[in-house]
Amino acid sequence: APGGGLGMTTTVVATNLSEADNIKVAVRVRPLFPHETDKGGTSVVQVTSNTAVKVCVPGPAGTSMQKDFAFHACLGPEVSQSDVLHLCGVPQLLDAALAGYNVTVFAYGQTGSGKTYTMSGREEVIAGEGYAGDMTHDGIMSRAIAHLYSAVEAKKADTRFSLSASYLEIYNEGIYDLLNLKAKNLPVKWDAALGFFVPGLKQAACSKLETMLDVIRTGMKHRHVGSHELNIESSRSHSIMTVYLTSTPADPAAADFGTPRMGKISFVDLAGSERLKDSKSEGVMLKETTNINKSLFVLGKVISALAERDSSGTSSAHIPYRDSKLTKLLMDSLGGNALALMIACCSPASTAVEETLSTLSYATRAKNIQNRPTVQYDPKEAQIANLRREIDLLRQENAYL
Ligand code: ADP
Ligand code: MG
Repeated sequence: APGGGLGMTTTVVATNLSEADNIKVAVRVRPLFPHETDKGGTSVVQVTSNTAVKVCVPGPAGTSMQKDFAFHACLGPEVSQSDVLHLCGVPQLLDAALAGYNVTVFAYGQTGSGKTYTMSGREEVIAGEGYAGDMTHDGIMSRAIAHLYSAVEAKKADTRFSLSASYLEIYNEGIYDLLNLKAKNLPVKWDAALGFFVPGLKQAACSKLETMLDVIRTGMKHRHVGSHELNIESSRSHSIMTVYLTSTPADPAAADFGTPRMGKISFVDLAGSERLKDSKSEGVMLKETTNINKSLFVLGKVISALAERDSSGTSSAHIPYRDSKLTKLLMDSLGGNALALMIACCSPASTAVEETLSTLSYATRAKNIQNRPTVQYDPKEAQIANLRREIDLLRQENAYL
């Protein structure tokens, strides 16, 4: 506040973000592929500006209907992996995480629309043995993490950081640790201070960038290989890679000296959003379909409920977070105190237009969600800091007596 006394400067980032903030929604349209043109597919999805996308829906007798959509960012097939990061505002989200906010980036779309490419890169290449570390096709995760470590390096004079990471997969409502393939069917527990969490999930300490890049690669490899061993089809699983970061102001002159802030960044690669053909949905497949659809279905319900919630956003009692593992784990990231970016991935092909329209309408609903980002302090340390502040105040009072 102006005239807030004592010559202290407040951090602008925290002030700006404390307002209710909408989820940012981006759309990425990938190139048209030969397997689509082979089937007579043409490109019917066009990015017409940085914030607009147009779909020509083929109608009867050669007619077509145009549908227009607007999003915070619209990225066409020509947009490179390195540009995605900046066009979607990821660096700003990372800065917020460094300041103690929870941040979520999630990719939504039908199988083959580019979710894994956008989040991780070329899965088959990075998970393969011959991977030489060529970053041209790397996705948001490793780029964001590289950015994060250079920000940490730049701030290390006045802030101490500690970073760690976990990587899990949700398949058929079961949780698998991608950093420890022996850990299958892990539970989700509730804790008043932590919220929903997965006990026993490996959290790898990563003091160096290389260690965290290794975590990503190990996780992707396990997702790729494990999918065979555990009979998982990766297009039907959700993966969540989480970066935990604690930042502690180390400058004794800082107002919050010694009070750790707990930021968290979750990168979510969702299962394919396509409705599965009924003919395939028998036996195991049926159970699988129901459960996989359960997480995505509940996510859809959560998004609708949040989008309809009025801007005061007071009650979350009727938001059905608890109905699936995915939404439990995303509870503090969606409609909560987090900043979120949803990237809706689409094929441009006429052959996929139904799914594309469904993805774009899902994304349109998500635009209405307001989160109320708040800085996360270590609860114990925050208490100590509060007590210290009180003692200071009492001392000051005493000085007047
Ligand atoms: P999803 O995870 O949504 O099922 P993928 O990310 O695996 O889809 O993408 C399917 C294929 O298309 C992969 O081989 C991927 O490398 C490629 N691909 C996706 N998006 C792009 C893009 N923007 N540019 C080039 N290739 C892409
Ligand atoms: Mg994928």
